Amino acid sequence: MIRAVLTIDDIASKNTPAIVDYLCEKGIKPLMFAWGAKVEEYFDNAVYVLKKGITVGNHSYSHPNFSKLTIEEGIEEIEKCEEVLDRLYSAAGAERRYRPFRFPYGDKGGACREKLQKYLAEKGFDKLDDRRIAYPWWKEQGLDRDIDTLWTFDLAEYNIRPGSGFTADDVMKRIDDPSPANGAPMLADGGEHIILLHAHDETEELVPGYYRQFIDYLLEKGVAFIEPEFIPKK
Ligand SMILES: [Zn+2]
Repeated sequence: MIRAVLTIDDIASKNTPAIVDYLCEKGIKPLMFAWGAKVEEYFDNAVYVLKKGITVGNHSYSHPNFSKLTIEEGIEEIEKCEEVLDRLYSAAGAERRYRPFRFPYGDKGGACREKLQKYLAEKGFDKLDDRRIAYPWWKEQGLDRDIDTLWTFDLAEYNIRPGSGFTADDVMKRIDDPSPANGAPMLADGGEHIILLHAHDETEELVPGYYRQFIDYLLEKGVAFIEPEFIPKK
């Protein structure tokens, strides 16, 4: 058995509603991470996500590398996105039960890492339930304690762009790879995953319905998508 929570970053976008419709059709409930600026740009598409009962988390306002920011700048990025998400939830008439956070590029803030974790904990951000993840590196890197949501498997489909030489076939090869350079092997039996995919219109233009192709393949290989759950706060 392979279990996975699907996380989709960088909403909202033009292709967001189509992704949501596809996932509803497949009975998959993802966790989506939004940047504030993109929610403002495609507000109705972000409302659509919430109307389908999907949790939208904070992915900063303008998607910077947090290690290049001061602690004050980092906090401002998070808070500015919080304000947009509060507005979004209220426009959609949805209750904001959980506040997960994901750092852009998985960049946890370098020298500010500890301070940012402390900030996330104090502000009551929610930690995705990762207690079944047993990869040794997950604990060695302190990911079992961090509040933000990282991933165990990156589909890396954002590498598909003009001139990169990286294709949809390379994504399939990553899925099949029994010993990937980073993250955990996707298809090893007993695997527990947090999968990373993006809602990028740039990818849609090059590979229409790319998400469908990759997720159909994962389903075909027996991956069971589970609903995101959060660790209850003490
Ligand atoms: Zn992102």
